[in-house]
Amino acid sequence: MMQSAQHPEPADAAARRAVRPVTVYSLDRLPPYDRTFYETVRSGMALVHALTVPPRDARSFRVPAGHLFRITTVDGPQVGDLNLWNADDLSERFYSGKTRALHATHVSTGDRLWSNLPWLRPMATITRDTLDWYGIDEFGAGVHDVIGTRCDPYTNHLLTRADYHYCCHSNLTRALAAARGLSLGEAEMLVHDVVNLFMCTGFRRDTNQYFMKASPARAGDYIELFAEIDLVAALSTCPGGDCGVGHSSGRAICHPLGVEIFRPQDDHLAGWRPARPSGYNGGHGDG
Ligand SMILES: [Zn+2]
Repeated sequence: MMQSAQHPEPADAAARRAVRPVTVYSLDRLPPYDRTFYETVRSGMALVHALTVPPRDARSFRVPAGHLFRITTVDGPQVGDLNLWNADDLSERFYSGKTRALHATHVSTGDRLWSNLPWLRPMATITRDTLDWYGIDEFGAGVHDVIGTRCDPYTNHLLTRADYHYCCHSNLTRALAAARGLSLGEAEMLVHDVVNLFMCTGFRRDTNQYFMKASPARAGDYIELFAEIDLVAALSTCPGGDCGVGHSSGRAICHPLGVEIFRPQDDHLAGWRPARPSGYNGGHGDG
């Protein structure tokens, strides 16, 4: 809740507000999305693994570099909270904030999911999004959010004093712990801010507060990504279901999510190499 201002407007307040915004990171400085390459890679790809994430739970899966993975709302609208790690070094993980700053608050085909510092490289590239038609609606909302963090039992306890154990944070923690043989405490420290797949969100115009609304996804919608490095992923089916009402409780109608992993034809990857870490020399001005 915004407090009322304690300081009067200066005489030039209107002029200060009228300053034109400047896009922080210019998209034309990013490596271009090579549509022809990704479309070629998609053609003739073979399904090599499939799994289902049950409602209010999570599963972890591996995606080798150069493979694709598709996440589908198999039964109906369902938000999926996705975490990504470098399979060889779990300290390299998806960096929601920088992905948002580089691309937008919501991601779709052609956008990259970037890793944290000091690596800052594309972990995955979005190659298909059946909800790409949605765009930005009259409330300023879009789909596939990189604003939100993940529902978690701590914030829920802070706000409700209740303990709920199937928030996405906990689901991702259990899934990663099981997949990597970690304790829950070890795994929890590796869980990070997610891509909120299929989640429809924005900021209220009057208060700038974060809002959500029912996902426009329907049974059969999917988002598909190309792994730019060897990945470990974890996907949680949010207890908020379509996130049209609430989350962090057992009340919402929830659905499973399907995961499929595809291997391209070898000749379609000729000349392609996994993404390399940032070229910054790491000096930080010391000496
Ligand atoms: Zn959630």
